[in-house]
Amino acid sequence: MSVYRIRPLNCGSISSGLREYWGGRLTGSFIEVPSIIWLIEGGPYPILVDSAFHSVENGRKGGQWICSRSPEEEPEYQLRKAGVDPKEVKMVLLTHMHWDHDGCVGMFPNATKYVWRRELQYWAAPCRTQVKPFEAPCLGSNHTAPWVADRATFQPVDEQSEILPGITYFPMPGHTIGECGIAVKADSGTYVLSGDLLSTYACPGRPEAWPELDTHSVVGQTYSLQMAAESLRRIVHIASSKKHILPSHDPKAFDREVYK
Ligand SMILES: [Zn+2]
Repeated sequence: MSVYRIRPLNCGSISSGLREYWGGRLTGSFIEVPSIIWLIEGGPYPILVDSAFHSVENGRKGGQWICSRSPEEEPEYQLRKAGVDPKEVKMVLLTHMHWDHDGCVGMFPNATKYVWRRELQYWAAPCRTQVKPFEAPCLGSNHTAPWVADRATFQPVDEQSEILPGITYFPMPGHTIGECGIAVKADSGTYVLSGDLLSTYACPGRPEAWPELDTHSVVGQTYSLQMAAESLRRIVHIASSKKHILPSHDPKAFDREVYK
């Protein structure tokens, strides 16, 4: 079985209201968080987890999100710097279908794009407050996910599955109805890519807590608090340690070039 390495690629940043990040408790201020593509190396071909936001312009039009992306943070630049041609990517595992995670899936024409079936169904007609983050084609949204124009197609997943030996795609609902986690076996143990179920290590408004992984709080924008709490308990057991949980939007992801 392959032993994998996980490389975070910095694909720009998003300015977000703190309350979206931490249980709705903090208001009035903003933080910058990175938009990350996770490259899994060591398999038969390059594998990606999530695909970052599409573009600064798309973020502004879709949900009035303020993003930034330097030329070096372009997903294609980041991938090529890591030695990957986007056309060689054969697998993209989406944690969920929010704009900042599925934005660039259209860039990978030769990849099978895995998503939980319930998430894909929900994308079409989410509750009203979720229309913008899903870039859903309904309910008065004047904007649709850019991959629609790119004619991207998806492989819906119905049950937890070991997609490749050592890489397991499993349901982890809470932040969205069909968010999935990805468990990856590496030399030091099993990592869990936790998507936005756990998007930062700790409360951004309590910087003194940052080195600690806080698995008792959920992000402000959450479909179901109960599901999120159950999923959090679950990922703590799947990961070899708390250090093996990799949140989706924490700048500390780049403290290490590669997780192995
Ligand atoms: Zn996100």
